Amino acid sequence: MNAMQEAIVIGGGVIGLTSAWWLLDAGYSVTLLERDAVGMAASYRNGGQLSYRYVAPLADAGVPLKALQWLFQEHGPLRFKPELDLRQWRWLARFLANCNGAANARTTATLLELGELSRRAMGELGSVVPPLAFGWRDAGKMVVYRSPSAFAAAVARPDADDSRQVLSSAECVAMEPALAAAQPLLAGGIFNQGEAVADCYAFCAALSQQLAAHPRFKGTVRADVHRIVSDGAARIKGLDTSAGPLAADHYVLAAGIDSRDLAAAIGLYLPLYPLKGYSLTAPIRAGDCAPAVSITDFERKVLYARIGDSLRVAAMVDMVGADTTLDPRRVASLTRQVRQTMPQAADYDHMTAWAGLRPATPDSAPIIGATPYRNLWLNVGQGPLGFTFACGSAKLLAGAMRGAPPPFDWRGLALR
Ligand SMILES: Cc1cc2nc3c(=O)[nH]c(=O)nc-3n(C[C@H](O)[C@H](O)[C@H](O)COP(=O)(O)OP(=O)(O)OC[C@H]3O[C@@H](n4cnc5c(N)ncnc54)[C@H](O)[C@@H]3O)c2cc1C
Repeated sequence: MNAMQEAIVIGGGVIGLTSAWWLLDAGYSVTLLERDAVGMAASYRNGGQLSYRYVAPLADAGVPLKALQWLFQEHGPLRFKPELDLRQWRWLARFLANCNGAANARTTATLLELGELSRRAMGELGSVVPPLAFGWRDAGKMVVYRSPSAFAAAVARPDADDSRQVLSSAECVAMEPALAAAQPLLAGGIFNQGEAVADCYAFCAALSQQLAAHPRFKGTVRADVHRIVSDGAARIKGLDTSAGPLAADHYVLAAGIDSRDLAAAIGLYLPLYPLKGYSLTAPIRAGDCAPAVSITDFERKVLYARIGDSLRVAAMVDMVGADTTLDPRRVASLTRQVRQTMPQAADYDHMTAWAGLRPATPDSAPIIGATPYRNLWLNVGQGPLGFTFACGSAKLLAGAMRGAPPPFDWRGLALR
């Protein structure tokens, strides 16, 4: 790159913030646009899992049947409210088209590469944003199975990770005593080293401070982008924002689920749908038996992570549109499951609930890189693993903008 180029990043969630950082690293001068405070949307109280190897796409063979069963379970992980919005049906059709073993294996391979890149990139960032600043912990991940058949299938699945440990239910409890009450209901578990947990919001806040201190960072502008304005000839000429018109050489769209509408207004269809999820955060008191290992309750799709002195529980996939209101029935259902599974883990009487929207693609692969507009770039669609993939996605984006050779075959992450 010759003369210094200016870039505007739209969106101050974990994806926009990491994009801004890696663009600075690549030599751009950067302005970040965020309509609210940074990290307050989907990145605020997510499950906190840095799940670099447990990346399986939601779409898989057998999922449509399982999903139908879940819909009829009172406390099932899935809810579906049909909308008068074609985008919901279009997304579902593409999701169903990806529910086969071949598509799942293809996407898994790409996501594993992105996961490893993200792990390394997060490590590089450690000299700038110290792990302690955002509660990072090398917790390892244990996936526990309630049904013997699901456990047997998981054990039989080939896994390149030779550090994985297959555990009986008693061994699960020996490794993680917080599971003692659930032991009679468990068929077994699989433990992987090297997966971490951390507080995504604290990461956003710490990274935002580092951005502010960077000599080429031009600032975070508190502004709502109303419209991306094209010149009618495959180039973006500026942004209409609540802070007035803004222009730069390059524009990065990283506005989570809202990227969908901003792109649609310039004729770009982004296959994103807001998969609503819930989290609970409960303080851990002295004497509580909180899990040290991060736990995934496979059949119930509930994640448990100790983050600092709190227990974070995340779950549920509700296809109900872009609605973040807390449904008291869903909160009560999750609370009941958590109290049953780990009754002594935290102070559930002082638990707080939160809901957020995972900006999800039908095949679970994010969309990173170029668009038909030569100065508009995308970093969207990280869905259920946006914290995990943030650093790798940002690094790929900055490389693509600079024209660097790709670190792996990442065609599966292009606009499709
Ligand atoms: C319940 C739940 C649990 C999760 N658990 C995990 C987990 O354990 N591990 C993991 O890796 N991931 C997890 N995720 C996913 C992860 O949180 C998301 O993928 C990630 O936060 C998405 O980040 P983002 O920056 O794309 O979006 P966001 O965080 O939503 O950020 C987008 C930002 O853009 C801003 N914006 C939007 N439109 C405009 C506009 N027009 N003008 C200006 N600003 C705008 C918004 O205000 C927002 O701040 C979870 C998500 C949920 C909901």
